[in-house]
Amino acid sequence: MLYEYTLSAQREDFYSITPQVREAVAKSGITDGIVVVFCPHTTAGIAINENADPDVVHDLLIGLNKAFPDRAEFRHGEGNSAAHLKASAMGSSATIIIAKGKLLLGTWQGIYFAEIDATVSQRCAMPHKTALYKRFCLCAVA
Ligand code: ZN
Repeated sequence: MLYEYTLSAQREDFYSITPQVREAVAKSGITDGIVVVFCPHTTAGIAINENADPDVVHDLLIGLNKAFPDRAEFRHGEGNSAAHLKASAMGSSATIIIAKGKLLLGTWQGIYFAEIDATVSQRCAMPHKTALYKRFCLCAVA
């Protein structure tokens, strides 16, 4: 079963989507299987990481930006090649096991939509606001 969600990603950040994934799994009625969470964007990703201390995702953004800095020799006219690199490294999907109707996540794990394009806040300030809404999809199978 396929479920689609949108979220408002107005700045570079990790947005928790664990509640939406839990909701979709509950709606699916699947008790044992897998759910695939997929992000159809080239400058965002899906990540599973710590859900307890918000400083962790803060530090992840700092680390990603240090690992993938913007470079003068990049050619991509949109100016967000660093975000494309981060998205390629992070990946566009995550697969989570469903056991007894629940997500088989570790105690400290949460699922995130990672908006990793540092230029998104500038584009959100533009009149057409093309970057405002992002989609992610879930597919749960038994
Ligand atoms: Zn681009």
